[in-house]
Amino acid sequence: MIVLDREFAQEINLHAEASYPDECCGILLGILGEEKEKIVKKLLNIDNARDEANRHNRFLITPADFAKASFAAIKEGLEIVGFYHSHPDHPSAPSQYDLEHAWPFYSYIIVSVKKGQADIISSWELENDRTKFNAEAIKGA
Ligand SMILES: [Zn+2]
Repeated sequence: MIVLDREFAQEINLHAEASYPDECCGILLGILGEEKEKIVKKLLNIDNARDEANRHNRFLITPADFAKASFAAIKEGLEIVGFYHSHPDHPSAPSQYDLEHAWPFYSYIIVSVKKGQADIISSWELENDRTKFNAEAIKGA
């Protein structure tokens, strides 16, 4: 389960709408609760690092982004608990590309954007054997 307060859900929606028709992406910083639930405390918007031609359907967080986010997290006593990105005019479900580029443990929040309007927000966790994503409950949004 991931705990995502309404203000963070709103922030993700606004980032997704501002980036439309491109994908947006960002990093979720937070803590682990008593039952290993992830509690989001901060969002880091990441500029889309892909080249113009592929931007509308591929997101990328570079190793440099990841390292920067790790330092930012540690400084505030947080850790990276997941990532978010948008699916412009596509359902809020992980793509094959997402599956191939995901790591276990992290939460993957995906927001679908329909004609510029943020629509459905969902969260996913990779199965440990990396064969598929499982839907994860979002609390608080
Ligand atoms: Zn995706």
